[in-house]
Amino acid sequence: MKTDFDAIVIGAGFAGMYMLHRLRQGGFSARVIEAGTGVGGTWYWNRYPGARCDVESVQYSYQFSPELEQDWEWTERYATQPEILGYANHVADRFDLRRDIQFETRVVKATFDEQTNLWVVETDKGDRLASRFVITAMGCLSSPNTPKIPGLADFKGPTYHTGNWPHEGVDFTGKTVGLIGTGSSAIQSIPLIARQAKHLTVFQRTANYTIPAHNAPLDPAYVRQVKASYREMRARAKTKPAGIDFDINWASAIETPDAERDRVYGARWAYGGLGFIAAFGDLLLNDESNRTAADFVRSKIREVVKDPKTAEILSPKNIIGCKRLCVDSGYWETFNRPNVTLVDVGDEPIERVTPTGLRAKGQDHDFDCLVLATGFDAMTGALLRVDFRGRGGATLKDAWREGPKTFLGLTVAGFPNLFTITGPGSPSVLTNMLPSIEQHVDWIADCLDAMRAKGLTVIEATGSAQEAWVGEVGKSANITLRSTCSSWYVGANIPGKPRVFMPYIGGLPAYIVACDEVVAGGYKGFALS
Ligand code: NAP
Repeated sequence: MKTDFDAIVIGAGFAGMYMLHRLRQGGFSARVIEAGTGVGGTWYWNRYPGARCDVESVQYSYQFSPELEQDWEWTERYATQPEILGYANHVADRFDLRRDIQFETRVVKATFDEQTNLWVVETDKGDRLASRFVITAMGCLSSPNTPKIPGLADFKGPTYHTGNWPHEGVDFTGKTVGLIGTGSSAIQSIPLIARQAKHLTVFQRTANYTIPAHNAPLDPAYVRQVKASYREMRARAKTKPAGIDFDINWASAIETPDAERDRVYGARWAYGGLGFIAAFGDLLLNDESNRTAADFVRSKIREVVKDPKTAEILSPKNIIGCKRLCVDSGYWETFNRPNVTLVDVGDEPIERVTPTGLRAKGQDHDFDCLVLATGFDAMTGALLRVDFRGRGGATLKDAWREGPKTFLGLTVAGFPNLFTITGPGSPSVLTNMLPSIEQHVDWIADCLDAMRAKGLTVIEATGSAQEAWVGEVGKSANITLRSTCSSWYVGANIPGKPRVFMPYIGGLPAYIVACDEVVAGGYKGFALS
């Protein structure tokens, strides 16, 4: 069999783009295969109103090129989807990436051929390409979840999923809208849709915690200061569990006097953003400590939302930070608008979608358009959509029947020469994705360089190394409260999905050490030939 490429990369989001750049720098031939018509991944697909990153823009950016860091100008504290997509396109132009990206093509199958030690990659366009390595860069939240609500196909009006939003945008002016979900995508889009639509009805299954973004244009003096000391900021971020440079107060919430605790929460709330959960070191370790933060947020909801019944429905009852914390711009305030109705479907599932709306708790709700802000088949959904076949024709689906099993979230035993950027078992979704992506890409690129230098062509995680890492991922998950609720982290949003806490929660610094130790040990835990 003739080798078409040294590496095939699946996906042209931030992971696939940087991977291509590193492969080229290393002198490897590569092709990126991308389903969309353009680069940007998450930021290409999620074009719903209000979509923006909840990591500050100066940190949610590549660091591999100091020139890029200096040249690019972010305009707001939290960048909007169009701005981030603009950045992705700028990177693609700047590093001339598009000529090695095959757009509008989906990889459907990839089979490891044990005779030649090559992967055979098949696409929906009929390609059959042989490659030494396959590197997945498909994103952790890229396989939209459309819940199987009876009657969904009968709805007469348009249905939109936040994770696959029309490129031309949607004008809700004069329309009545029904929206299912109150996760991050809903919390960002609800205020904007409410402003435009005639009426918005929100169907909430689980109330969610959100912290105000206090988004604002970036102060040029602050940007100058960041740009003058970018290396230091990036280095500090790498020492933080989430890979984000914000202050962590390691004190215990419950051991802090009430007045001081309230002062700390008040200051974090006033500053805004995800750093709220770092107000105390034990918020995700201790129920009682967690309750103090949850109570604080609930008191804020009661302050903002005028109708006490609505405020009560909006007040989350579960652990704060257990599901992914959200960051908003005017979310609670939106429920004071006369054109917004909140329907609690927490105690009884939505009965059915009807041709003119939906039926919940025996009551019909009519609307012109339906928005599904219902999330994703997270972490494994995109990977399992491809029919991966490793040694002996074994499928990845079978290998992961009881939940994903990887070595470092980067490789899978039985699937040689397959690398998974930000795969399950890596910190990924618990961190700032961009530095995590860069760390993975660098690790993979360095690995390929090292293999070539030694004349090696096959790398495969050993079963025992994988088992030990899966044990480590499970052990660290059990220490935190984060693994205790029905979140997408544990696959609970997808009926029938095995309940396993999928990301590694030991923190980015510990994870980097684990990866580096494997390299220092001569790729300990891998069989190389
Ligand atoms: P999500 O957090 O999974 O939220 C989905 C929502 O839909 C939940 O409220 C869920 O309720 C509800 N839902 C699902 N099926 C339902 C059904 N059959 N009936 C009623 N309600 C149903 O999804 P997401 O909001 O798209 O966010 C996913 C992740 O993407 C986030 O956690 C975050 O990591 C990332 N994200 C980031 C940003 C950002 O950076 N700003 C923005 C958007 C998304 P339950 O809670 O009861 O399951």
